[in-house]
Amino acid sequence: ADWYSQVKSEKPPVVPNNETTSKTQSRENLIRHVLDHAHGGNLAPWVEAVVQGKLDPDFTSSNGNCVLHEAVWRLDYQTVEKLVKEAALPVDLRNATSQTPLALAVARGSYSLIKFFLDKGADIEAADHLGFTPLLSSVLTSQLGAFYVLLHRGANIDVKDDNGCSLVHWAAYKNNVPFLRVLKSLNLSLEATDKLGMTPLHRAAMSNAVHSIEYLVFEEVPLNAKDTKNRTPVQVAVEYSAEASQKVLNMKKPQESLLYRLFSLVFLGYWGLVFLVYLYNVLPHTSHYLLSSLVFNTLVVTMPIVYFVAKLSKPGCIPRETNNTIQKFGDLFELEKFEEIPKPEKICSSCHIERPQRSKHCRLCDTCVPVQDHHCLFLGKCINEQNHRKFLLGLIWQVAGTWLFLYLEWGNLDSQLQESYLSSYVVKALLLLFNQGVLNLCVVVVSVAVLWYSWWYLFLELYAISNALTVNEVLNRHKYKYLFTPFQSIDGTLKLKFKNPFTKGFLHNWMDFLTT
Ligand SMILES: [Zn+2]
Ligand SMILES: [Zn+2]
Repeated sequence: ADWYSQVKSEKPPVVPNNETTSKTQSRENLIRHVLDHAHGGNLAPWVEAVVQGKLDPDFTSSNGNCVLHEAVWRLDYQTVEKLVKEAALPVDLRNATSQTPLALAVARGSYSLIKFFLDKGADIEAADHLGFTPLLSSVLTSQLGAFYVLLHRGANIDVKDDNGCSLVHWAAYKNNVPFLRVLKSLNLSLEATDKLGMTPLHRAAMSNAVHSIEYLVFEEVPLNAKDTKNRTPVQVAVEYSAEASQKVLNMKKPQESLLYRLFSLVFLGYWGLVFLVYLYNVLPHTSHYLLSSLVFNTLVVTMPIVYFVAKLSKPGCIPRETNNTIQKFGDLFELEKFEEIPKPEKICSSCHIERPQRSKHCRLCDTCVPVQDHHCLFLGKCINEQNHRKFLLGLIWQVAGTWLFLYLEWGNLDSQLQESYLSSYVVKALLLLFNQGVLNLCVVVVSVAVLWYSWWYLFLELYAISNALTVNEVLNRHKYKYLFTPFQSIDGTLKLKFKNPFTKGFLHNWMDFLTT
C-alpha cells in the first residue's frame, strides 16, 4: 500500500487537458477532410495543409503515399511544382514503402516529371524498402522510354535489389520479353544468379512466365543451373505448380537453326529426286511429249541457278544502333521535346531502332527488315523489295516445274493404259502408280503437296503485288493501324475501315514491282 501511494503521489493523475483534446480533434478533422477530398480526386486541401505546415510533408494516406507522391501518381505537374518549389518539400521524400517521387514518376512513364525531379537533384539510385531503384522500377513497370532516359542520365544498369535480383531477373519474372531483348543487347548476362542462386530462368519458372522461358531457352541459357537449394528451373516450376512452365521446360527443344539450315538441302534434294524419277521412270514412256519435256528439263536444269541467285540476294536490313537510340531519347528528353520522343511500341526491342513503317523484325534473321514480305525458309532469308522479283521467279519455277513433272508422270501412266471408262481408268492408273516403285510414289505424293502449297503461295504473292501490299500485311492486316482509316458510321460513332494507302491501281502496282 505504501509503495502504491508513493507512486500515486509521484505521478498525479492525468487531468483532461481541453487544449490538447481540441488540438487532437481538429487534427483528426483536418486529416479526414484532407483525405476525403483526396479520395474524391481533389488534392488541394492536403496541399494547402502541408504548405501551411498543418500537416507534415511525410504524412501518408492509407495507400502509403505522401501528398507529393500522390501528386506524381496523378501526373499533376503543377501541384508537384508547388510542393517542391513553394513548400520546399525534399525531392527525395520517401513514402511508406520508401519510394521516392522519382520512382513513381518512372512507373508512370512521365518524362516531364522524371526530368523535373532529376533536375532538382533527386537521387537516381534511391532504393526503396525492397532495394528497387528508379531504373529497376522502369523494368518492373515496363517503361522503356523512362529506362532509356535514366540510362542516359547515368543510372547504374548493374543494379541489384535486396534479393540480389538483376534487371534481367525481373524482366524474366515479369514475362517481359521485349525488355529481356533490350537488356541482352546492352550486354547484361542472361545467366546471372541472385542471392538464392537463382538464374533468370529460375525466376521465370517461379512466376510461370512462359514467354520469358521460351525466350531464354531460345537464347540457350543453361537449363540445369541449380540454385542454393539445389533446384533446377524445372524443379522450381514444379514447386510453384507453374504447369505451363513445366511443360515448356520439359519439351525437347529441336535445334531450330540446324533445322532451318536443312531447308535448303531439302529443297535441292527434292529436285534431285524428282529429276531422278523423271529420268528412270517417266522419260522412257514420255519421249513423245516433246514440248513439255523440253520445258521441264530446262526448268530443272536452271532450277539451281534461279535458286542460288535468290539465295544470294540480300534483303537489306536496318543497322542496329543501341547507343544512338539511347542518345536520341536522351537528347529529346533534355530539350524537353517529350512529344517527339518515339513511342516505345515503335522501338524494336532487339535492334534498338525506331521501326520504320512497314518494317518487321525477323527473329530468324535477327534483324529489322524494311517492308518485309515474309521470311523464306527455303532460301533462309527474308524477302522484301530488294529481292522480291528473284523470289517470285523462283516460286514460278517451282510451281511450273512441279506441275510439269506431275503432268509428265500422268503421261507416263497414260501411255501404259488402254482404258476408255473414266472410273476404271482412274483405278487402273492408281494401281499402276503403286507399281512404279516406292521412290516414284513418294516423289509423286510430295510433289502434289508441293504443288498445292506453292500454288497457294503464288496466288498470295500475286494478290499482294497487285495491291502493293506485302504478304505479311495481307495475312496480318488487323495488326497494322496504318491500313485502317476512321470513318463516321450511320450512328455517328467513329469506326475503322480497311483502306490500303499504298495501292496506285493494278497496272501501276505491277509496273512499280517490275521496275523499282
Ligand atoms: Zn529489329
Ligand atoms: Zn528473316
